[in-house]
Amino acid sequence: MTKCSPPSPPADGITARRLISIDDLSDVEIGYILDLAEHYAGFLKRSEPAPQCLAGRTQINLFFEDSTRTNLSFDLAGRKLGADVVNVPVSASSVHKGESLIDTAQTLAAMGADVMIVRAKEQGLHERLDQLLDCVVINGGAGALEHPTQALLDAVTIRSKFKTLRALTIAICGDVQHSRVAGSDARLFTRLGANVRFVGPAGLMPESNQFTDIERCTTLKDGLAGADIVMGLRMQFERMQSGDKDATQGYFETFGLTHETMKRAKPGAFVMHPGPMNRGVEIDGALADDPARSLILQQVFYGVATRMAVLDALLGAA
Ligand code: ASP
Repeated sequence: MTKCSPPSPPADGITARRLISIDDLSDVEIGYILDLAEHYAGFLKRSEPAPQCLAGRTQINLFFEDSTRTNLSFDLAGRKLGADVVNVPVSASSVHKGESLIDTAQTLAAMGADVMIVRAKEQGLHERLDQLLDCVVINGGAGALEHPTQALLDAVTIRSKFKTLRALTIAICGDVQHSRVAGSDARLFTRLGANVRFVGPAGLMPESNQFTDIERCTTLKDGLAGADIVMGLRMQFERMQSGDKDATQGYFETFGLTHETMKRAKPGAFVMHPGPMNRGVEIDGALADDPARSLILQQVFYGVATRMAVLDALLGAA
């Protein structure tokens, strides 16, 4: 592949017509999207305009939960490919006049959406919208369940340092139970051949019948040993029951990610975090800001390129 030539699409094309879970994509489709994200990252690095492959297409961003990075990077991604992008101001929309989320989405789709990016906590809503709407539905975050484009951008970021995830040890650390990022990362990284571990207090681990193939460590000493990547997670207080909050007492002293605790990982291991970070709660500011150890801003950079790749791949096929 030369600097400017895009990767070749899979021989059978892209068959995915939605991205609600990482499992909506085949291995070949995942590989293509990661390569395409690297291709688009090249345009962003060179400050070159990208091909306007979505000109004339309409993208609607419908975020019923708070978002900074995901919403803005989908917005930028669509615009950079030439789409007409509409961000729905949910706080000023008719949802507050009692309109159901489905009615709101159907109304917007009727305005001619080709793709709708939806963030909502209601379980099953994305699947329902996929059945009802005549447009591509992309999950911009579903409660504590899935955040597939975050996982894809995390994989692109890791590949920018290690070329491949195969045989890497990746420790996902913190409030795993309430994190949609942890779930999507674990599903994707495992498929890409990484050894994934969940690390954190027992009270913040997923139910024992979930993610049964993922190793669990309840000390930082065991969890970080030999890790190439340490993915810190935010305490998601907004999804916690009062019992879960007990597990967060003294968290930073026991599980906080610092230059000192990163010594337990491999020399040269990197720290990542999907953001928003809470400095001094799950991660020390000095570590987060250290460009030699932290990939946090690279995650944000690759977020735009990855969402360009996802939009191109799914809309190109639609
Ligand atoms: N931004 C990520 C998400 O939407 C992580 C977080 O909120 O903690 O899930």
